[in-house]
Amino acid sequence: MEHPFHFNCHRCGNCCRVGHGHVWIDAQDVDAMAEEKQMTSAAFLQRFVYGKDGRLALREEPNGACALLDSDNSCSIYECRPQQCSDFPYWPQLAVTGDALDMASAYCPGIQRFPSVELAQVVLPQVAELVAKYGAHAAVDDDAAQQGERWGTSLEIDLFLSSGVELCNVVWPHSQQLRSDLEEIAASSGYPYSVSPWARLLSDRKSGWHELGGVPKI
Ligand code: SF4
Ligand code: SF4
Repeated sequence: MEHPFHFNCHRCGNCCRVGHGHVWIDAQDVDAMAEEKQMTSAAFLQRFVYGKDGRLALREEPNGACALLDSDNSCSIYECRPQQCSDFPYWPQLAVTGDALDMASAYCPGIQRFPSVELAQVVLPQVAELVAKYGAHAAVDDDAAQQGERWGTSLEIDLFLSSGVELCNVVWPHSQQLRSDLEEIAASSGYPYSVSPWARLLSDRKSGWHELGGVPKI
């Protein structure tokens, strides 16, 4: 991985709603963007663009979302979206671990970061202990069952991938306690933490570990 993460877009649109700061555009791209919106360039500039520090940027709605984001999370000028957008998350400032990457991975579920083998071998046994602790309460998770979807964390899934041990669905309120225990382990150890639908996260973590040469065995 050239950047310190595996990436697979979930098409959630979060990156177009939060976190960017300004979305800069080049003046030479305005005509194509206006054409995509079937507007004149003058109308496009008036509705969607503002000037800042001698540069042009895209307007945001009052809720912070880019004004060009459609209600179905798609970009209404996708074919000619700004370079900044098409490059995300492969930005230079996200090529190193630090605050910028922390922020981006907090709002972008497509970014998956991975621990060192050594850290995994220390932390995953702790997750296995939680499996033993909460496994006694295993039952159907009503929320997950109702939504037809089960959610998981990077720690649970890495345990599953490394050892084949899977945490059973845990019934509330144990599921709340489990989640907070996992968050605490991640925060205190520095283990990369993410939450997504189980099947999706399993696929992303599997691909990322594969790029790194395989899942550490514990
Ligand atoms: S221009 Fe398109 S891709 Fe870029 S932030 Fe706006 S909606 Fe998202
Ligand atoms: S936040 Fe990440 S996963 Fe969601 S649409 Fe943007 S790039 Fe894709």
